Amino acid sequence: METAWSNYSGKKLQALMDFCDEYKEFLSASKTERETVKNALALAKKAGFKDLEKVTKVKVGDKVYLNNRGKSLVLFVVGKEKLEKGFNILGAHIDSPRLDLKQNPLYEDGGLALFDTHYYGGIKKYQWVASPLALHGVVCKKDGTTVDIVVGEKDDDPVVGISDLLIHLAADQMAKTGAKVVEGEDLNVFVGSIPLKGKDKKEKDPVKQNILKLLKEKYDIEEEDFVSAEFEVVPAGKARDYGLDKSMILGYGHDDRICAYTSLRAILDMTTPERSSCCILSDKEEVGSQGNTGMQSRAFENAIAELMNKKNEYNELSLRRCLKNSMMLSSDVSAAFDPNYPSASSPNNNNAYFGRGIVFNKYTGARGKSGSNDANPEFIAKVRRVMDDNKVAFQTSELGKVDQGGGGTIAYILANLDIEVIDAGIALHNMHAQYEVASKVDIYEAYRAYVAFLKDIK
Ligand code: MN
Ligand code: MN
Repeated sequence: METAWSNYSGKKLQALMDFCDEYKEFLSASKTERETVKNALALAKKAGFKDLEKVTKVKVGDKVYLNNRGKSLVLFVVGKEKLEKGFNILGAHIDSPRLDLKQNPLYEDGGLALFDTHYYGGIKKYQWVASPLALHGVVCKKDGTTVDIVVGEKDDDPVVGISDLLIHLAADQMAKTGAKVVEGEDLNVFVGSIPLKGKDKKEKDPVKQNILKLLKEKYDIEEEDFVSAEFEVVPAGKARDYGLDKSMILGYGHDDRICAYTSLRAILDMTTPERSSCCILSDKEEVGSQGNTGMQSRAFENAIAELMNKKNEYNELSLRRCLKNSMMLSSDVSAAFDPNYPSASSPNNNNAYFGRGIVFNKYTGARGKSGSNDANPEFIAKVRRVMDDNKVAFQTSELGKVDQGGGGTIAYILANLDIEVIDAGIALHNMHAQYEVASKVDIYEAYRAYVAFLKDIK
């Protein structure tokens, strides 16, 4: 099978591998949407991007960003054309499936302290037990301060985890269906086993009391502060090379930080394009894109309005025209053909494969394309031409075989704003598992595709 690897040797191959090393580092340090925004902002500032809220005027060639509540981000590079001519937009999401702590998470049972969780996004729950997990979060205190907490990533940090039943006693469990083997309310995270001693000790729950004492000493937080906190329980540890030939990357949260990072790198490389460039890193995709940091929020339109205003081009009609004239690659991960599960894939060359480059999906959705943006072929023709002109390796695919399942993305939300949109992205194995896998050449081809789209689509 011909793959994009055949285009790489020598310096080109080295550039690809270096890019993927940088991505691995970014992914390892970006386990939550907040951390992703923080790390993306650091790269953007280094590349000369300024906070749109802090500049008074915007002119051609300027690079600006809007940080939405630390959980989503929009970046712009102002092109030579008027803004109402539209943007070339890249979009991806930066939230990933995980376990969130409940608002009253800490309790004691059987002499052990645990955190109660509610899972976020679509997961196979049995994949999250008997493995090292880390705790990433923020605690917003009543005095207006915020405490950042990360436990489980440094070599000498403890990890936390969820128990699984020993095989010796699992006769009943093993007879259950996959959906019920481990149930949502049983995803409780073990955090301690030493009872509090001494004069502070109350009658009830000494192990829980000891954990609270530890949290107070280390972070100056009280039990009630969990009410205004966001904690995400995620797989502990770094992203790594995968395969004896190091051709792939295994890591947590490729979905969809893999498209977010490659899109980000593409806009960071832009210098004064003809049509203005835009990159959206959005939150909440895994739960439906709602909320004021999700793609359904008016925050994106507001951001464009602010940009137009600071370039003295704002009026309502110009904003509407800008949206109508915009074109977008809405990127999210795709399902790569898996020889262990061939029967779930789409037949007849309609499935994505590792190594064949960025994936374009005319439509996504489930059960008769339901919930999908179905890209217009006139627009797909433009995209094909730009990819071919820039010698970008691409493939087209469906997310598995018809009626096997499906999935949605942010594409339809932008298309509802009258933007021309197609789904694109990078194919994975193990999507939504603790550790997902992607091909390095696909990552690099996606980055090249994004650069070509920002530069040349019109
Ligand atoms: Mn996704
Ligand atoms: Mn997903």
